[in-house]
Amino acid sequence: MPDTGRSTVTAATATATATATATATATVTRGPRMTDTADVIVIGAGVQGASLAFHLASRGASVIVLERSSVAAGATGRSSGLVRMHYDLLAETRLAWASFPYFRDWAQRVGGECGFTKTGFLRIEPASVGDRLRANVTDRQALGIPTSVVDAEEMRRIAPGLEVDDDEVAAYEPDSGYADPSGTASGFMRAARDGSARLVQGAEVTAITVQGGRVTGVETTRGSFAAPVVVNAAGGWAGRVAELAGLQIPVTVWRHDTGYLGVPPEVARPIPTVIDSAHGMYFRPEGSEMILVGLEDHSGMGGSPDRDTSEADPDFRDRAAERIIRRVPGLIEGTFRTSHSGQDGLTPDERPILGPAGPLGFYLDCGHSGTGFKTAPAVGLGMSELILDGAATSVDIAPFALERFAEGRPLVGEHGGDLTWS
Ligand SMILES: Cc1cc2nc3c(=O)[nH]c(=O)nc-3n(C[C@H](O)[C@H](O)[C@H](O)COP(=O)(O)OP(=O)(O)OC[C@H]3O[C@@H](n4cnc5c(N)ncnc54)[C@H](O)[C@@H]3O)c2cc1C
Repeated sequence: MPDTGRSTVTAATATATATATATATATVTRGPRMTDTADVIVIGAGVQGASLAFHLASRGASVIVLERSSVAAGATGRSSGLVRMHYDLLAETRLAWASFPYFRDWAQRVGGECGFTKTGFLRIEPASVGDRLRANVTDRQALGIPTSVVDAEEMRRIAPGLEVDDDEVAAYEPDSGYADPSGTASGFMRAARDGSARLVQGAEVTAITVQGGRVTGVETTRGSFAAPVVVNAAGGWAGRVAELAGLQIPVTVWRHDTGYLGVPPEVARPIPTVIDSAHGMYFRPEGSEMILVGLEDHSGMGGSPDRDTSEADPDFRDRAAERIIRRVPGLIEGTFRTSHSGQDGLTPDERPILGPAGPLGFYLDCGHSGTGFKTAPAVGLGMSELILDGAATSVDIAPFALERFAEGRPLVGEHGGDLTWS
């Protein structure tokens, strides 16, 4: 694509109260590359901002990504990187499924490596919720996702190192696994910069400028940048960034600890990627010698997005070790290597907020609620279409509009289920 020329950006938007929507078309003159003017400014270089920049740049739009720290410095750099399709909500499964080809075929689609490792995925549930699990799996099979319900005997065959009760069931996805979140974000960013995107690190957005009800750009600690479209992809900081545009959004900070254990050679392999509802945890291999474990309870809610995340809660190691040993008994001989924390933006229904909101030209790509790594490729695609064409056509992001909260329509799984994080 040429570095200069004219491009048309269509921006659909909603009022600050999120009660009405309007559509506006802004025709902008794209300046030469490396100026401080662009078609789109993206705030935040996590996996979401990087994916959006990649998709916008692949359409020829000029993009400036502004990052207060460095690429993947937020939730992305702490993410456990699970790539699986089994959500309780079809709209999220569709995003994960549309994202999957990017992870699987990363070299062809983006270039380089994203660290995708196919381990197989088990979502283990007690028999009491077996009907719900089966209904979820049936819906996902209808989308073409390779998944099935497996019983205890089959689980023991798939994962011989796991202790499984006879009445437990699981959803099994043979093709799922995990990827490297920092590598994924960096890869998207690198490919975007090879096109028409520019990354400015160490640039904290401190103000969003609005004229006549339309965004015109931002002020940062590294100067001013102009664009008719500004996207809030600021993760745990998204509420703070929205306020700069005069908008209150229901995004709070969610804090989550993870740790790595060394796996003794006696533990039978392979170890798949597992969400273990019975024990309120998930785990996956990290290479061949370690296992990553995260717990689904004791997550911190609220607080500052600026808090230090280098240390997990003091009792996390004991709680994690006690639980993982129940599922993988051989880990009683394991060694705790390291643990840390991470923070993401959390919404009341634990689903993201995607779409226009507030002043014309302002968009939200935030509130990913601890599950926004695996969906980032498709979310970026859908958001790029919404911004450039006025509607997302490749994927459906409409269910994730901010309006659902004001209208009392939180997203809930088709077959019921509780919120994940507590
Ligand atoms: C511990 C943990 C484990 C997880 N595990 C999984 C998993 O297994 N699978 C999965 O799918 N998801 C997982 N998630 C969720 C997933 O990682 C996040 O949803 C995703 O990384 C969010 O990406 P993001 O780009 O929206 O946010 P972030 O990665 O937080 O990026 C936001 C960026 O915005 C920048 N920023 C903020 N304010 C400003 C400002 N004013 N100016 C400029 N820049 C600013 C920040 O520095 C940051 O780099 C996990 C999250 C955590 C914390």
